[in-house]
Amino acid sequence: MGEPFVYAIGLRTRFRGIDVREGMLLRGDAGWGEFSPFLEYDDATALPWLRAAYEAAYLGWPEPRRTSIPVNVTVPACSPERAHEIVLASNGCRTAKVKVAERGQLLAEDEARLEAVRDALGPDGLLRIDANGGWSVEEAIARIPVLDRAAGGLEYVEQPSPAVEDLAAVRRKVTVPIAADESIRRAEDPYRVRDLDAADIAVLKVQPLGGVRACLRIAEDIGLPVVVSSALETSVGIAAGLALAGALPELTHACGLATVQLLAGDVAVTPLLPVAGSLPVAGVEVNVAALRTQVASADRASYWRSRWSAVSALDPGLVRAVRQDHSS
Ligand SMILES: [Mg+2]
Repeated sequence: MGEPFVYAIGLRTRFRGIDVREGMLLRGDAGWGEFSPFLEYDDATALPWLRAAYEAAYLGWPEPRRTSIPVNVTVPACSPERAHEIVLASNGCRTAKVKVAERGQLLAEDEARLEAVRDALGPDGLLRIDANGGWSVEEAIARIPVLDRAAGGLEYVEQPSPAVEDLAAVRRKVTVPIAADESIRRAEDPYRVRDLDAADIAVLKVQPLGGVRACLRIAEDIGLPVVVSSALETSVGIAAGLALAGALPELTHACGLATVQLLAGDVAVTPLLPVAGSLPVAGVEVNVAALRTQVASADRASYWRSRWSAVSALDPGLVRAVRQDHSS
């Protein structure tokens, strides 16, 4: 196996408190895999991300059932004017996902942002919001109907409150459907969402959940409609999300995979940017020459190489399985 590349790409707007996205790209017989756990994650939390990278590089993905995936435009917790511009510049996305419940902002700011997005999207577009667990149960129950009105109807609200029990409590009190994100990907037990009837929709992310196959199993066992979303990856990570969206038995909602435009650059020959509101289910070809210009500083590269070794050491079988495959 080749030495993984380290990349560092600026973000157009600060997101999750970071200005630069970093990670590693691994090339195997089956294609390219991305390993880009967030910096604050410990090694055990990063292990599923490594499994997803190995799956992409050495195993490849199941046959797709569809070739094109409708995607949503993502609107950060910005001004109404900026929100309007982002939706108009979305290359035909008919679904918008809007960040709400940002710390330090008022409910009125969320309302104004949603009104602007509805105006840009038109009456037949779908509008979903993501609170990233920013509300208490009481706040969620009071605010969701207000935002539903401001938005002219919400498709769903993602992770209104932090705990899975909170989601279940909110879900019993509001009519807007509830989607679970952190309650699945950061949970000890993703199936608590199902057992507590806590959500109407499951948001699945390939790297945090350990690969496309792992996500297909969760989707089957959890029994909810799935929205595949990205972890703010390069086109290599996005291609894995598209492989999952393509392989799901049913896909009824637009996916959150149009996030390459949040990065100031990319690593693909043809970056996975939406055309007419959709992305293709297809492999990705990395521009290795360009990748060499995206490299991180020597310090950051050495950080990532130690990270890779530390996380790999948690699952020696992963590396061994690949080596055996090669010698047989
Ligand atoms: Mg989310």
